[in-house]
Amino acid sequence: MTYVYSFDHSHDRPAKELAALLGGKGANLAEMSSALGLPVPPGFTISTEACTAYLKEGWPAGLDDEIAHHVAQLEARMGRQLGDPASPLLVSVRSGARFSMPGMMDTVLNLGLNDESVEGLTSQTDRRFALDSYRRFIKMYGRIVLGIPGEEFDRRLEDARELAGVATDGEVPADILEGLIKQFKDVVEAHTKAPFPQEPQAQLRAAVEAVFSSWRSPRAVAYRTRERIPHDLGTAVNVQSMVFGNRDDNSGTGVGFTRNPATGEAGAYGDFLVNAQGEDVVAGIRATEPLSALSERFPAIYDQLLDIFDRLERHYRDMLDTEFTIERGRLWMLQTRVGKRTGAAALRIAVAMTNDPRIGLSREEALLRVSGEHLDQVLHPTFEHTAQVVGRGLPASPGAAVGKVYFTADKALDAHNRGEDVILVRVETSPEDVHGMEVSKGVLTSRGGLVSHAAVVARGWGIPAVVGAEQLEIGDRSFKAGDVVVSEGETISIDGSAGAVMLGALEMVDTAPPAEFDTILGWADEVRAGNLGVRANADTAADAARARSYGAEGIGLCRTEHMFLGPERLPVVRRAILASTPQEEEQALAELGKLQRADFEEILEAMDGLPVTVRLLDPPLHEFLPSLEDVLAAEAAGTVPEEDRKLYEAAREWREQNPMLGTRGVRLGVIRPGLYRMQVRALAQAAAARVAAGGHPKVEVMIPLVVAAAELAHMRQMVEAEVATTQPGRPLDLSIGTMIETPRAALRAEDIGQFADFFSFGTNDLTQLTFGFSRDDVEGRIMGTYLDEGLLPRNPFETVDAAGVGELVRLGTERGRRANPRLKVGVCGEHGGDPESIRVFCEAGLDYVSCSPFRVPVARLAAAQAVLMVGGMAEAASTR
Ligand code: PEP
Ligand code: MG
Repeated sequence: MTYVYSFDHSHDRPAKELAALLGGKGANLAEMSSALGLPVPPGFTISTEACTAYLKEGWPAGLDDEIAHHVAQLEARMGRQLGDPASPLLVSVRSGARFSMPGMMDTVLNLGLNDESVEGLTSQTDRRFALDSYRRFIKMYGRIVLGIPGEEFDRRLEDARELAGVATDGEVPADILEGLIKQFKDVVEAHTKAPFPQEPQAQLRAAVEAVFSSWRSPRAVAYRTRERIPHDLGTAVNVQSMVFGNRDDNSGTGVGFTRNPATGEAGAYGDFLVNAQGEDVVAGIRATEPLSALSERFPAIYDQLLDIFDRLERHYRDMLDTEFTIERGRLWMLQTRVGKRTGAAALRIAVAMTNDPRIGLSREEALLRVSGEHLDQVLHPTFEHTAQVVGRGLPASPGAAVGKVYFTADKALDAHNRGEDVILVRVETSPEDVHGMEVSKGVLTSRGGLVSHAAVVARGWGIPAVVGAEQLEIGDRSFKAGDVVVSEGETISIDGSAGAVMLGALEMVDTAPPAEFDTILGWADEVRAGNLGVRANADTAADAARARSYGAEGIGLCRTEHMFLGPERLPVVRRAILASTPQEEEQALAELGKLQRADFEEILEAMDGLPVTVRLLDPPLHEFLPSLEDVLAAEAAGTVPEEDRKLYEAAREWREQNPMLGTRGVRLGVIRPGLYRMQVRALAQAAAARVAAGGHPKVEVMIPLVVAAAELAHMRQMVEAEVATTQPGRPLDLSIGTMIETPRAALRAEDIGQFADFFSFGTNDLTQLTFGFSRDDVEGRIMGTYLDEGLLPRNPFETVDAAGVGELVRLGTERGRRANPRLKVGVCGEHGGDPESIRVFCEAGLDYVSCSPFRVPVARLAAAQAVLMVGGMAEAASTR
């Protein structure tokens, strides 16, 4: 087994593709050393395989020999030896995992110093420099390898500065450093009951072991969980000969980007420090200078660096970030990697590199360089800085919001009318709250998941939302987050992209997409044309118009129950659903019919020429009724308003143990046929009116929550009959289909497909029912622990469960098309806007995805990426 590779060894594949084996840093050091011949201090990489073997079974057999062999090679090459009292070789030992985990794992610098070699370093450099390097090494080694708290050293260093009467570490003179080193060694001895290790080979082995072990440190584990990096990859370790940027004023160190990572502007960008080591730049002890200032201080090096940047960009065909050191007027490259960038920069760089013949990205490659998160950043405001988080919940609707907290929809509305910015804070929301949600800058709840009412509505309207923040205790006029109490009218900031709640008003950056946004999305549309369409879930004409402006190619789900929210309409729907006499029902339905027809007409106009899928009513009844707790409390207190008496009685009568599994969807349509008939009539009339006005309405009637073919057959007959009586002799462009949102419907899709022109997978309910996870309850209380414990890889309400729910989507599509080869198939659950899920849907052969209007641009990009990946074009594009 080979565990160790020198930077310049010859590989059968380009080294930069070997990140799984060499880690990102090791692969790029090898690429710079071998393929590009750049000035990289020589060294070698101990592979991730050595780390995983170590973590499984302890120090791998043969690894000592391999390291010794490579150390000998390095010594021969450098003409110096580790620990040599005359002219010592010093090395750095750095972690380097496959995926960058900045600052999460450990590094030891200046390894090889001991009481003797420090003399050698003195003779090569000067006494102060050598002693300063030694004290740095003892501290780093002590802290990282021996586990001694850093403050033990820092305290003594501070005393030394005081004793010397100087402000910075770099000014502490040699004689005081000598005393300090003695103290540092005493600290080590006191902690480990053994002297500071003097043997360089032993230092090296212990440092490598410490870096391996740091893969399992709690902060590294937490980082990987957050970033979804698998825990079994291990880290590589890079051992590299040291170069010193802190040798003299003809030395320095810096970080450089080949382009501006914030804006994407062309031209080198970064900063550097004269006479400093990398850690000084990170620690921010002295103010850095902009990279451009190098051109005055080190003009030749500046030119050399620009030339290297240019070569790196042409070689990697991407924007890179680098770390470099200047030692006595000589430039060394210590690291490079593809640079992280903001959304705006990602868009600019992708387009610029496609248009630049020297780099010549293909459009397909450019599309793969931009992510949904990048688009989110330019579509939604973000916070300028972070702040202490007092509560965390699910990131339900992206963007940043600042406002005063109010705890009821009515108070939120009043405050809005007074001109205040409002954050509506509720335990959970229901249709009764929408008038307050609508005017709020943000929504915060302590209960509910990513497909709860609050989440779905906020996302649909583009209002930032954090939901299911379980630790918050939300009362009537204040909420408690740990010890902090936030009262009505006080200001908070919420980050709907991160799921964070912060106190006070954070500074916001309002973002506007750069011109390249449209270019990239235009390219995305070309790629996915004829493969995977993107529609929007929209319930009003305003939503429809917005969705269209974002590039939606139709409406994939119009939730008609959402059209009846708000204080005026909700009571009428309630009357229709809860009516106790046919006359009462008839009257309420007539009222609804009028409203509904007008709504449909506006929506069809906004989406003229494009398909509009209207779902007949699917209200989980509990969302439409006063909560039983409120009813009981009001009854006990004798405060039931006279006009609500009937409603309260109905709330008791219609109460269900599992409302999500009760009187919903097609079942409601069966027991209250008048409701569905009214809706179909209103829709047919609206479509006819649009035709009369010269429009081209394309109507799709969708039946929710079907489990059996007979239900759909029954409803199909009803719809056709109703359309025929409403518009005799005037054919409408109308198709009839169903949602597939129960496992039975997916399994029996071949029967159901006989009566359907289209299927739309409702993956919110399909996930709920496949897992048996309540979509309102499981995420808040259980999901966090499940994800932390690794019991589920992802929250299945966020990213579709490819193996289970995805299987039902594949199978349902295939079986449905067996019955009806022309069956159009889409998805309209919240997963329709999630890039990873979109790939699963693309693989399953779906015709379109449908998501909230604000998510449409992300879905257009993700759909194109999915088409490229599923078609194998992504690989072809990235290995060109
Ligand atoms: C679904 O279940 O995925 C769906 C789109 O319907 P709703 O969220 O309205 O239940
Ligand atoms: Mg549903």
